[in-house]
Amino acid sequence: MRRVYLDNNATTPVLPEVLEAMRPYFGEHFGNASSIHHHGQETRAAVERARESVAALLGCRASEVVFTSGGTEADNLAVFGLARSGDHVITSTIEHHAVLNACKHLAKYRGTTGCEVTYIPVDGRGLVDPADVKRAIRPNTKLITIMLANNETGVVQPVAEIGKIAAEADVYFHTDAVQAAGKIPIDVNKIGCDLLTISGHKIHGPQGVGALYVRKGTLLEPMLYGGSHERSRRAGTENVPGIVGLGKAAELAISGFERGDDRKMAAARDHLERELLEIEATGLNGEGAPRVPNTTNIYFDSIDGEALVIALDLKGLAVSTGAACSSGAIEPSHVLTAMGLRPDRAKASIRFSLGKQNTPEDIDFALALVPETVGRLRELSPVWLKSAVSH
Ligand SMILES: *Cc1c(COP(=O)(O)O)cnc(C)c1O
Repeated sequence: MRRVYLDNNATTPVLPEVLEAMRPYFGEHFGNASSIHHHGQETRAAVERARESVAALLGCRASEVVFTSGGTEADNLAVFGLARSGDHVITSTIEHHAVLNACKHLAKYRGTTGCEVTYIPVDGRGLVDPADVKRAIRPNTKLITIMLANNETGVVQPVAEIGKIAAEADVYFHTDAVQAAGKIPIDVNKIGCDLLTISGHKIHGPQGVGALYVRKGTLLEPMLYGGSHERSRRAGTENVPGIVGLGKAAELAISGFERGDDRKMAAARDHLERELLEIEATGLNGEGAPRVPNTTNIYFDSIDGEALVIALDLKGLAVSTGAACSSGAIEPSHVLTAMGLRPDRAKASIRFSLGKQNTPEDIDFALALVPETVGRLRELSPVWLKSAVSH
């Protein structure tokens, strides 16, 4: 059966060049990067080359890149590495759970008892208002953490404005750029952030590896203690194959921008979106906001999103109701409800997220399936049939 994958915000396929770059580090180049002999030097050099590649993608120095086990660990390191007892943290209601639940946990964590967190709301487009962030700053505010691009809607936040506000107030600013990396250019100095998260498997690298950019001079308390790996910011023998894969994925992301991959992806996404919105009683979540070029999130009224995902999967199309980690959850998406969507509309919403590997034929495949499947499910929906007079 033909299968088309349009769930690239959940994870992306590893590109063949990435796998090739990683392969020797599972085989002949097996050394511990901390060993002083030949085998260690070989893997150390590979880790440092990867660090240069990630730094090039983010516009920072290699010494400011800390490799982690993924986006979740990098987000946690940013939050727990800075917030202390008595501190105040500002975040938004639409963050990924790696930030949201870390912030929720702050009150219980180690010496951070007593941390207070302000959750900034978003408007109907899914945007944080920088003025709200500014107003929320208190004398004890230590950290602002607001994501760059949302994983469910692709909406891009005004991070450069928030960065300016944070700098003026002398507050650390972290941004989760997991869904922005490789899709829009990132420059930590233009954003004005002190910390920034990326993840390997969201940019066609391997799962289980990520990185946190930490601006020089940022006093970060580690979460893991052990050896002096990663300049004592993250102990543990390096995941060399993973790091090499992340480095290669970063290189390919840079050359992708030079080739115009992002523009091609936007054109394919726009085509898909336009056609899907032709279906009656549908709408775009994040309408009117800047978005990354690969994501579209659409509600299909009177449809159960979960049922639509399953029906499409049976026909070979992989899409998602939103965050992969909360699929199967009964609760509607916290992102869409924060945008003011009615719960039934939030549950009727589907995320289509494209990747570099997708072809125009993949889009045609989706367009041949979705309208028909939506129609079929609606014919079985009492809500839809009851409201038939209105459409
Ligand atoms: C996937 C994702 C993460 C988590 O990254 P992992 O590497 O899967 O731990 C964090 N933030 C956002 C926005 C994501 O999409």
